[in-house]
This record gives sequence, C-alpha cells and structure tokens, in this order.
Amino acid sequence: MQLANRMSRLGTETAFEMSALVGKLRREGKDIITFGIGEPDFDTPKNIKDACIKALNENQTHYTTSNGILPLRQAIAKAAGEFRKMEFDPEEVIVSSGAKHILYDVVTVLVNEGDEVIYPNPGYPIYESVANFVGAKSVALPLWENKDFSFDVNDLRKIVNKKTKMIILNSPQNPTGSVLSLKDLEDIAELARKYNCWIMTDEIYSRILYDGKFISIASLPGMKERTIIVDGFSKTFAMTGWRLGYGIMPKELAVYISKLENNTNSCVNTFAQYGAIEAISGDQTAMDKMQVEYRKRRDLIVKLLNDIKGFSCKSPKGAFYAFPNVTGACKNLGFKDAKELQGYILDKAGVAVLARTYFGPKNEGETEEYVRLSYVTSTDTIEKGLARIKKVIENR
Ligand code: PLP
Repeated sequence: MQLANRMSRLGTETAFEMSALVGKLRREGKDIITFGIGEPDFDTPKNIKDACIKALNENQTHYTTSNGILPLRQAIAKAAGEFRKMEFDPEEVIVSSGAKHILYDVVTVLVNEGDEVIYPNPGYPIYESVANFVGAKSVALPLWENKDFSFDVNDLRKIVNKKTKMIILNSPQNPTGSVLSLKDLEDIAELARKYNCWIMTDEIYSRILYDGKFISIASLPGMKERTIIVDGFSKTFAMTGWRLGYGIMPKELAVYISKLENNTNSCVNTFAQYGAIEAISGDQTAMDKMQVEYRKRRDLIVKLLNDIKGFSCKSPKGAFYAFPNVTGACKNLGFKDAKELQGYILDKAGVAVLARTYFGPKNEGETEEYVRLSYVTSTDTIEKGLARIKKVIENR
C-alpha cells in the first residue's frame, strides 16, 4: 500500500502493545500480573458517572462547540487556576478527547517542517512521534538517574538554539515519576524566553504528587503567554476510557486549536463533558482517597523492588510509576539489556513490566538499564507480582 510519506515517521504508544500481549496470554489461560499500562485500576467515582447519566437522560446528546461546552471550560479555568495560583479565562481553555489529542493539536498547529522540538527522554513516546510526524526534528533532552531523573541544564543549553520551536515538559513524569524543581523550571524558562520558544507542559500527573506543592512553568514571570498547559481527566479522576482532556493556552492560539478540533472531532462527547464538570468541581473525596492509596502503593513497591538482588529503585515523587535500575540483575542473569529481562520476567514469572526503551532510545552515554512498573493495582497484587519477580531473578 502506498501510504503518505509522513506515516513512516509516526511512532506509537508502545505500552498499548504490551496490553494486547497480556490480553492474548490471558486468553490462552496464562495467569499474568501486569504492571504495564498506566491506567488507574479504580473505577470512575459514582458522582461523576451520575452527572453524565443525568445529562444523557436530559438529552445532552447533540453537537457542542468545538472548544467544549462553556460550563466545563469555566469549571476548568477556575479549578486549574486555583490549583496553579493563576487566573485563566474560559476562552483560553480547549476541551479535547484526551490530553493526547491536545498534544497532537498543539504540535500540528505550531510546528513547521524543519523546526526543532525538544522532548524528555526517557519520556512519553507520543511527543517524539508527533514531532517527527509533522516533519520537525525531534531532539531528546536526557534525564539522568543521578539527577533524580531530571535533566542537566548544560545538556539543555547544548541543544536549544534558534531553530527550537518548542520544549515539551512533563512533570510529574512518565516513566520515571520525577518532578521538575523550581530551579529546573527557571532554567528552562530563561532559555525559552531567550530563544523565543513555546513550552508545552504536560501536567496530566500534577495532582498525583507525594511531596510539596505543584509548580507550573506557566506561573513563572513572562511564561504564560508562551506556554500551553496540557492536562486531563484520565489519571486524576480514573476516567481513561471517557477520552477527556484539555489544554490551556493563549486565546489567539486557542482559536486555531479549536479550528483543528473542528476538522477532526467536531466536538467532544457531549454528555461526557457534563460528567467532567462534576469531576473537576464536585466532591473530591474519591480522588483524595485514590491519592492516599497511590502513596501506600508507591512505598510498598519501592521497598519490594529494593529487596530484589540487582534492582535499585529511587522513590518517585509523583505519578504512579516506579523506574528501578536493573543493571545489576541484567548482569547477574547474563542479559544484554532490560528488554531481555522484561521477556524473561514475563515468560518465567508471568509478570508484565516495560523496558526502558519503550520510552525512547537510550541517550548517548546512558549505560544503565531500567524497567517501568505502573503501580495501578492493589497492594495484594503488588506483593504477589513482586514476589514472583524476586523468585525468578534470585533463584534462576
Ligand atoms: N501524557 C502522559 C505523560 C501520559 O502518560 C498519558 C497517558 O498515559 C497521556 C498524556 C494521555 O492521556 P489521555 O488519556 O488524557 O489522552
């Protein structure tokens, strides 16, 4: 089939491939525990579902404007503003079918062929994929374990230049759970102002933060006008399948993002948008309980990972991912890399984890091996899964 050239540049979110494999193995009767995809195991809280059902029964079943219904944009502007100690206007908000769609829209609308886009590596694979798809040069900003999986400002200084159109940030981060410090954000902001680039900050895990207060780069001086905040409902409110996300950006840009949404989606599912109003401005008890549970799971999984020979795991500061260094285990077992270790753990222990390379190719000078485990499963399952891993790693 003769596809458009750009298709050869399109990547994929590889975690979905592992989910498909886990599904296949389970259908074959295998007992698989998965720490693969980053999808909360909690069901969407009842108050949110009820608001959606009410809207459906009230016949909220028609098209809406392409940027989302006004009451939802108002609710997002208010809640997102209070959370970040900023002020947003509903006209700066675009509702989309998932945060992922906003990432795609923003890159498509702002980035030209030949522009450069800086993205974190290891990172969420869609950043690199979409930048390449539109014909830009994607440039990796390495994250280092000895910097708590943040970046080295000298690395950033080396790659940012007058062709840099956009710097993509993600804090708390997938896959490492790292959080950018105020100093990191100030360094990035200074370079963004100097080289006049856009910042797209993926803040989808901003409410899953274990220590301190969340800081958005958009709140630093002179940054709001060059920043697109990407956030959504999937992770915080356990609403992955609803496909609801949003972007907050300068009004002049929002007009064009809305135009692209008009061409692709027309609008987001109408009754789902009413559920989202309840999610963001209704009772937050269920969400608070989820955060408490994630912290418990984080502490447990980090402890159990550090108890496996050849594994060492820093305690992630946010999101729901553990990213242990498994270099020792690879060496002890004679594996070339974490991908081989991942295959061994799946085969022998029936446990799915994701090798580091699911989140981009290794950076120059990166010698260590890592895997990612999403702790979006019960403490019992974490204990069982980690006991299985320990057994096959230590008693080979
Ligand atoms: N951004 C990051 C960093 C993610 O990890 C994910 C999902 O895994 C997304 C965006 C996509 O979120 P949504 O479900 O809202 O499209």
